Amino acid sequence: MDQNLDPFNGKYGRLLEIKEIGSKDYVTTEVSFTKREPLRATKDEATGWKWGPQRLLNEAHALQIVAEKTSIPVPKLFEHGYDDQGRYYVTMERIHGLSLSEAGKECQMVGAGVGHATSGPCNECRQTARHNADTFIREQVLPQLQQLSSNETGLNGFLLPPPRIVETREDRECWPVKKSGSKIYVLIHGDLASHNISINRSTLEVEHIYDWEHTAYLPAEMELELWCMEGREYYDLFKNDQLIESEISLITP
Ligand SMILES: [Zn+2]
Repeated sequence: MDQNLDPFNGKYGRLLEIKEIGSKDYVTTEVSFTKREPLRATKDEATGWKWGPQRLLNEAHALQIVAEKTSIPVPKLFEHGYDDQGRYYVTMERIHGLSLSEAGKECQMVGAGVGHATSGPCNECRQTARHNADTFIREQVLPQLQQLSSNETGLNGFLLPPPRIVETREDRECWPVKKSGSKIYVLIHGDLASHNISINRSTLEVEHIYDWEHTAYLPAEMELELWCMEGREYYDLFKNDQLIESEISLITP
């Protein structure tokens, strides 16, 4: 089968791009964005992407819960399931905003007569976007997520801890769910970093929070303030064995 064929046959407008990033495919059409497992050479061969279907189903579950129970803006979930090649996929609304991690790489206010940088990076835009996102996350996102609680970790029986844990402990066969006598776990995004926050290009306000693959009920302190971090600081966390081991001990049954 031609890999470049639109898997949706025009249902979501014109196919714009199919890109393999890391171990998954990203399919973009005019109105949709799809994450799916890569094609396996044979039916028995593992994709090399651990828990692919479970991760994508987890993201679908998270998008549903957050859309239903909170006013946090998330991409609208369109569909999820196995395609005719046996690959799990999740399809959602395509997001057009600017990622917070990119905000300030150029001025968004050029021509608006505000006296920002006329070329090159714009520190004013960057600071405004970062400030707006920080306020929005502290006042809107975290309080609403933390209202949702559970007496067991994970989401619907599956736990994918934050990337700093999963990606540095790749030998793990699974992350078992931990139960408590009371609802001590709260919903956390799990990767609330600037690359998962989209900003409106004109207002520099938060438009969407996306990439809910690692979302789970977990101890509230595991939602680290990743949105405040720059790239290097974020990736330094992956080398922080002390932090990672203490988080693992918190979630180990
Ligand atoms: Zn600017």
